[in-house]
Amino acid sequence: MPNRDQITLHHTLTLRIVELTIVILAFAVALRPLFTNLPNVFIWVAVGNLILLMLVYSVIRRRLFPQWEFCLCLVTAVAIMLPTLAISGGVNSQLAFFLPLSPLLAALIGGRRESIVVAASLIPAIVLATVFSEHVIDLTGELYSQEKTIDRGFWLVAATIFSTVFAWFFLQRYDALTSKLKEENIKDPLTNLYNRRGLNIYFKKALDNAICSASPISLILIDIDNFKTINDQYGHDVGDICLVEVANLLSANVRRTDIIARFGGEEFIIILPYTNQEAAALIADKLRQLVSKNTFSPFAFPLTITLGITEHLQHNDNALKMIKRADKALYKGKDRGRNRVEPAE
Ligand code: GH3
Ligand code: MG
Ligand code: MG
Repeated sequence: MPNRDQITLHHTLTLRIVELTIVILAFAVALRPLFTNLPNVFIWVAVGNLILLMLVYSVIRRRLFPQWEFCLCLVTAVAIMLPTLAISGGVNSQLAFFLPLSPLLAALIGGRRESIVVAASLIPAIVLATVFSEHVIDLTGELYSQEKTIDRGFWLVAATIFSTVFAWFFLQRYDALTSKLKEENIKDPLTNLYNRRGLNIYFKKALDNAICSASPISLILIDIDNFKTINDQYGHDVGDICLVEVANLLSANVRRTDIIARFGGEEFIIILPYTNQEAAALIADKLRQLVSKNTFSPFAFPLTITLGITEHLQHNDNALKMIKRADKALYKGKDRGRNRVEPAE
């Protein structure tokens, strides 16, 4: 499923491609009659195409039609290219050389589906134009041998298939790259947990789901106790190792449905769907005990954590308010001596 950025990128790309086509067509309409003596009908067909293209352009630009990628691909393939080809010699027309480019452009504009639709409408048209070549009206008045026509038809089909397959591979690489970038964008590089951006996305989803299904959802905010002393005494790199090990320990001991993120420097947050505050308190205490029983880094430091917990309230509550409540509880836990679970009031 393309995201909003991808759709915007496709939309801009589409507009540029159509603008370029309009400019080329307008040049052809204006300059071509100066070089060759073409029948007037060509000029009228080109002017008609130009008007049609401008119409398509305004439909896309204003997003009047929700399926604009689809609309553009079909209109280009069927309504613009084919009539021009039909009166200029079919597969023998110079314009036919542009045909194999279409699935590629359709892939850039829309995606796999559009590329296939364009290829599927072009290939039968090329085959038909090859088989019935003697019935294709050629207003340019040129003569072609049957052999040459079949040869051209064959290579046009081959090139169209090649361009469709190429578009397919291109989109595969593009999708893989964008999902890798997306993943990197929402992950913290040190601990490999979600960062604030990732947390915002998944917390919102989990909260919406909890509200829709009227199920409880809780939040645990975790802060490592006296972490500064490790950094001060042993350096940042040892501090980093401890952070990673705490993160690994926490994430290995939450459920698959829970969302764990690095909230800040040495603070972590866990979202627990389908969990009320009492159940969250039990989980929080299990995590607290786990950390306090372990040692961290090659220096085997003992560490403790303080945890603030809260659950989503039925009325007038949101993600920010939940975090604020948990933060308040956490700092109360610090005041009360650290290494403890503190529920929000
Ligand atoms: P408290 O028990 O009150 O939480 O004490 P604390 O020392 O943990 O609290 P404080 O917020 O004063 O210090 C947090 C420290 O975490 C400060 C900073 O040096 C350290 N820190 C934050 N991010 C990183 C990081 O990415 N790597 C390392 N090594 N240290 C970090
Ligand atoms: Mg701390
Ligand atoms: Mg802190």
